Parts: sequence; structure tokens; C-alpha cells
Amino acid sequence: MSKHPEHYIALSDLARKASHLRSVAALLGWDQETYMPAGGANARAEQVALMAGLQHEMLTDKKLGDLIESCAADTSLTSGDTPESANIREMRKDFNKRTKLPGELVSALAEATSRAQHAWKDAREKGDFGAFKPWLDKVLELTREKAQCLSDGKGELYDALIDDYEPDAKASEIEAIFTPLKDQISNLVLDIKENGKAPNREVLNRPIKPVKQEAFGKFVAEACGFDFSRGRLDITTHPFCEGVGPGDTRMTTRYREASWTDSLFGIMHEMGHGLYEQGLPLGAPHGQSDLPDQTGLPCGEAVSLGIHESQSRLWENAVGCSLPFWKWALPHAKEHLGSVIEDQTPESMASAITTAEPSLIRVEADEGTYNLHIMIRFELERALLAGDLDTADLPAAWNDAYKTYLGLDVPSDKEGVLQDVHWSFGLIGYFPTYTLGNLYAAQFWATVHEENPSLDDQIASGDFAPLLMWFRERIHQHGRRYTPAQLCEKATGKPLSAEPLVKYLKDKLYPVYGM
Ligand code: ZN
Repeated sequence: MSKHPEHYIALSDLARKASHLRSVAALLGWDQETYMPAGGANARAEQVALMAGLQHEMLTDKKLGDLIESCAADTSLTSGDTPESANIREMRKDFNKRTKLPGELVSALAEATSRAQHAWKDAREKGDFGAFKPWLDKVLELTREKAQCLSDGKGELYDALIDDYEPDAKASEIEAIFTPLKDQISNLVLDIKENGKAPNREVLNRPIKPVKQEAFGKFVAEACGFDFSRGRLDITTHPFCEGVGPGDTRMTTRYREASWTDSLFGIMHEMGHGLYEQGLPLGAPHGQSDLPDQTGLPCGEAVSLGIHESQSRLWENAVGCSLPFWKWALPHAKEHLGSVIEDQTPESMASAITTAEPSLIRVEADEGTYNLHIMIRFELERALLAGDLDTADLPAAWNDAYKTYLGLDVPSDKEGVLQDVHWSFGLIGYFPTYTLGNLYAAQFWATVHEENPSLDDQIASGDFAPLLMWFRERIHQHGRRYTPAQLCEKATGKPLSAEPLVKYLKDKLYPVYGM
């Protein structure tokens, strides 16, 4: 499309302004997590609230709604598979969602979740689920109401909630993938627990100064394709990556002297998110796409949490924990980190970092067992929302599931049902995106290998460009043009399924455990 009609230009201008507000808010948030002195906290809270208010005002403004409707009525814009028609479709969906929830419900949820978070903190400290239960009940009741408003009484309530994180995903479709996946991964993990011999992992705890870890992490990120002239890496307590705006993608990490691979894989994880952000068609053209600048428009935004997570998990696990990667990385690691890892081989490194050991805490879980933690949560929260599981029975249901799928006894609710903050925030429908990310990553990884048999050799020689280009073309440049499910099918030729992930885990884990 060469020349856009006036209403589309006016709509794009408004969207661009709203995205600049979002950038400013993101920058305030990033600063708060990195460099802000403690004394700035109160004023920062007011600044953040003001920005949120301005954003909300702008994004629910009737003028925006009218412009969307006049564009939606213009068939020169909406016919065909074009970025313009996708932008209008997605902006209309966002606008309707934002204006659908009654103001009283939004404030009631904000207040209840704020109180529930405090109650959860105390309850977790004491391992006292009873103290959190009334708050969880309240949050669930309001979240159900929210889902009812959003769903217009159609379909399963859970679907209306997951749509915020994984557009168009359906609980029944997720269940159809998760059910066989859960049994197969559980069997794999329990088999390894019974019959496997764990490799030597002592190298992971050799002390290495943070300044050396940082230099090596940056070296790896740059080699993989992260553009430091359009991004940064800084230190924080809870690592994240923020696409602040065109040409500005900020990763964060943390360093601990006694576990140097934590920061390396932390950086590779955030780098995966960062490469996605840097590949979106924003600002000046940068070679990967002939799309016009999509700043502020849906085609310039990441499509879903699951697809975002597929990018981070792929670089962190599939690339970073592989033998080809260590064939390339080890000599550089020795150069940066010094004689402390002199005795290592690519083989010893690759097996030291590959694990499948059942543990109680999700955020500490390894690649082999992580998805079991997620699938257990998906089932429980779906049943809670539907009213099929009473909160009074939740701890017992949790403990049963951990026994069945991970072979573990949960000693207290602190290490069990109270460990995650999500439900106190009203985040229901969020957990499955982690495993969807791993599923997408495995399916992408299998497809790239099928199409490019030299991939392992390229990685072993430090040539990451073909892998990155594959993602630039198949995923990054599209933004929200397609739904996650469509994007997966376009990129891999198949709908999402459990097989690639199961095969990937088996191929990777059994040899490391000598099986
Ligand atoms: Zn992530």
C-alpha cells in the first residue's frame, strides 16, 4: 500500500503518541529497578501512577475509538492480509477490551489484589494457607466477574483471561497438548531419577568475579547478534528485558560469584527477549524488513508472552546448553574467565549444565522438570476459576499433584501452594505461557534444524546469523500481524504439538544421565 487515507494516518499518529507515553513509563520502571536511589521511591510511585492515568485516558479516548471505527469501515484498508488490516483488527480488539470493564470492577480488583499481595507475603512467611484463603477467594470472585465481562458469556471463562497473555488461545486446546506432555515428561523425569547417573556439576560453583562474568556475558550476547548500539545490559535484583522503544532495548541481570553460569544463562535468556524486541519493525528500517515503521501499531509489538518466552528459552536452553555452543564458547570463556575453568572440555560443560531433577520450587526448577510445575498450576487454576475446585481443597490438590508427577512430598505450604505471587495479583491464565514458550521453542528448533542441516556446525563456529535471520523472517518482523497459533503454523508448517518438546528433552537428557 503506497499512500494511506487520512483517517489511517491520524490513527497511526495517535497510536505513536500513546506508545511514546508507554516508553516514558517503561523508562521510569527500568530506572527504578536499576539506578534510582531509595530516596526517590515515593515521588517515583506518583510519577508512575500519573503516567498510567495518562496512558489509560489516551487509550480509552472516544476520538481513538472513532478513528478505529472509520478505518475498520474502509475496505481499502481492511481487505486482504496486510499490516494495515492487522493493525486495525488488533487496535479494535484492544480498544473494546479496555472499554468493556466497568470502572468499579477495575478499582475493586486493584484494591483486592493489592491487599491480597500483602496477605500472601505474610501467609507465605508463616506457611499459613488459611491466612491467604479469604483473599484468594475475593480475588477469584472478582477475576471471574472480569472474565464474564470480557467473554460476553461466550466460551470458557479461562479463555477470556488467557487472551491477555496469549491471544486467541483456548484452555481446551492447551489441555489437549498438556495432557500427553505431562505424562511423558513425568515418566522421563521419574525414569531418570530412578536409573540415571548425574554428571559432575562442580565446575558451576567455582568462584568467578562478577566483572569477568559481565565481560563474557556481553561478548556472548554480541556474538549472538544483540546490537549494543540499540540496547544495554545493566544490573538488577529481578532480571528482565524491556523494549523501551525504537532503537532502545534494555536487558538486566545479576551476578553471583559462586554461580557464574547463572548470569551467563540469565543474560542469554534476556538476550532472547531482546533480540525479538530488536527485530520488530520499529523506527528506521534496519535491513530485515521492508515493512514501513510500525511504531505504536500492533504490527510493531510482540505477539504474546508465549512467543516472547520461546525466544528467551531457545537461546538460553537450546543454544546455550548445547554441545555445539560450547565448542565455540569454551575457548572464549577460558580467555575471559581465566584458569579456573582450564580443565573443562565442551562435553564436560554441556553435560554439567543439563539437568532433570525434581524439586519443589518452580523458579529454581531445571529445564527437564520446569514444565511439570507449570502444567500442575494450569490445571489447578482452571479448576478454581470454573468452581470445580474449592480453595479449601487447594493445598491437598497441590500436594497430590507434586507427589504424582514429580515424586515429591511437599513439607509445607510455604514450599507448596504459597510459593508463587501470581494468584495474589489476579494473574490467572498467565502460567501456561511459560510452557507454551518451551513448546514453541522446541518446535521452532526442530524446524530450523530440518531446514538447515548445517546449523550445529554454524553454531560451533560462532556463526549465529543464520539462526537469528530465521527468527527475524519467520517471527520478529510480523509483530502482531498473525495470532500466535497462526504464526507457529506459518513458521513451522504445523500446528503446535507436544512431540518436538518431548523428543528434544529425551535426546538431550538421557545421554547426559548415561541412559
Ligand atoms: Zn523470560
